[in-house]
Amino acid sequence: MKPLARPAPALHESWPGYLDRVAHLNHLNGVQGIADLLGVLPYRLLVSSPRIVLTQLGISLPSIESAVLDTPLQPDGRVYLARAGRSIRTRICPECARENKNLMIPAEWDAALTFKCHVHHVQLLDACTACGRALSYEHSSLIFCSCGHSLRMERARKISNEIEAVLSALSFPPERKLRLMFAPSTDHEVMAAWLIRRLLMIDAGLFHKRRAARMKGDAFVTASEIQAVSPWFIEWPNAFLAKLAEANYAHKLSPTKMMGLGPSRLEKNLPEVSAAVIEFDSRRRHGKRPAKSSGFALARNPWMGLKQLMLQTGASYHAAQTWIRSGWLGDVRVQQESPGGTRYLIETESAVRFIKMVHRTSSVRTMASDIGLEVTALRCLIRARVVQGIPCGLAQWNVRLAPAPVFKLAQTLLSAAVLGKPSNAEVISLSTAICRVRKHDPSVTAAFVAAVISRELRTRTFIPNPVSLEEVTLRVQDFVKWLRRRS
Ligand SMILES: [Zn+2]
Ligand SMILES: [Zn+2]
Repeated sequence: MKPLARPAPALHESWPGYLDRVAHLNHLNGVQGIADLLGVLPYRLLVSSPRIVLTQLGISLPSIESAVLDTPLQPDGRVYLARAGRSIRTRICPECARENKNLMIPAEWDAALTFKCHVHHVQLLDACTACGRALSYEHSSLIFCSCGHSLRMERARKISNEIEAVLSALSFPPERKLRLMFAPSTDHEVMAAWLIRRLLMIDAGLFHKRRAARMKGDAFVTASEIQAVSPWFIEWPNAFLAKLAEANYAHKLSPTKMMGLGPSRLEKNLPEVSAAVIEFDSRRRHGKRPAKSSGFALARNPWMGLKQLMLQTGASYHAAQTWIRSGWLGDVRVQQESPGGTRYLIETESAVRFIKMVHRTSSVRTMASDIGLEVTALRCLIRARVVQGIPCGLAQWNVRLAPAPVFKLAQTLLSAAVLGKPSNAEVISLSTAICRVRKHDPSVTAAFVAAVISRELRTRTFIPNPVSLEEVTLRVQDFVKWLRRRS
């Protein structure tokens, strides 16, 4: 099937943007609508050769050397947005949106580090200002958000100083020529975008968890992310790299590996990056562990939003909501901004304190192996609130632990155990006992721990000065007797 309205692509138009424009002229549901028309998946449509798609849509190929047709293809005849430094996401100038009913999206707006409309000299928007949902070609409309907000109603903002600072630190030529659609961005631009992306993920502990978009290796960077990293860019690239190295260090991976590039490619493309990485690697092998920085960009604004909090802690929306409900973030102001849009204002001071706390937490698995308890047993203790877990996701078991109280509990339990010789009596480990108590009656888990600590229930260890709870056992006989008395 062919659409009725079949405009030719404009010279500098974005390829996904063009598909979106054709869709709206034909009252179709965005890029998805065109994909449905051709019976393919939207992703496939975006990576297919524009020449082929145009033919399928019955659109005559433009007579001029059009940007669409100049799109560099991979050997398999496809287009890779990410490899060209482009993204499934885009930005919109609210002024341009107001002036043109059928907005033509310049290819440049999809690029990693474009933040300014060159017609209106205002900041491009990358997300709905009412609900925070990112602008993406995957959505049915770029202008009308699903929350009901229209970007045409948005007041244009001057480009922020932080963004200006980062861009100038990246030393872009001031009047960059508008590139042809899908023309690869400069190596420097792609590399910088990609470093910022990695940096943010590393810093927020999101490296393996987050995919910015479904396309692998997305090069998109949002304005708020740039603002958050701006203090790192005072001296590009050395200061930035030092920070990157620090963040990498915290995650115990080699920076080279972390950045996903082989050393030889790195050396070829960015020799100064390579030198810094090598220097850092050697410093890490021989030196002390650097202190982890956090809350670096937060001190200025007295209020922090939910999104920033999530970015800094790597937590989900639900986790952040739980923190607010539990009062861990102090007094939080809630503003109803527009239909469906809620804005949370958290006092930066208490938020930073909390973020630092989250950064110091460990996973349940790590904690369990550190104190020598089975993971299931430690989870039982968390559920029974013997140790306090910090929720980090929607699921009840998705929590993290502050190490100090857990170590303290482990220490108390260890010191309660008496030195005893191996006997013929049947014994069970403390882990097994905790799991059985929970199975039997969850409400007595806390009482069980208290009984062990007060030595009402004797635990034994056969090693003097045990360091792990694995070495602590109790007699089945005693345990069963205690359980019977409780119920
Ligand atoms: Zn504009
Ligand atoms: Zn919205």
